Amino acid sequence: MEILKKRLREFARERDWEQYHSPKNLAMALSVEVAEIVELFQWLSEEESKTLGADKRAELEEEIGDVLIYLVNLADKFEIDPLHAAMEKLEKNAKKYPAQTVKGKSLKYTEYEKP
Ligand SMILES: [Mg+2]
Repeated sequence: MEILKKRLREFARERDWEQYHSPKNLAMALSVEVAEIVELFQWLSEEESKTLGADKRAELEEEIGDVLIYLVNLADKFEIDPLHAAMEKLEKNAKKYPAQTVKGKSLKYTEYEKP
């Protein structure tokens, strides 16, 4: 993660693109890249979405790269470590959705009966 963050800073600095990398712009670019992933799956059936062809898989890989780039850039603006943030959120989710309560169910946490 540190290597990627450093490389992204260099990439922007070498091109004088930091001026365009406001948090607002990065959040918007991130959203666009996520939409490009969604577009790859648009109109596919459930089954088709599980078995992308080689071309679409290659496109998905590129878009996942784009998403991570903008996500890391945005997190960097606020000195947030995305891996730490994800691990913390996973811990919160584990408490919100105890495995023994939610196993095999997809309800929102507010919809489960309190023990
Ligand atoms: Mg893209």
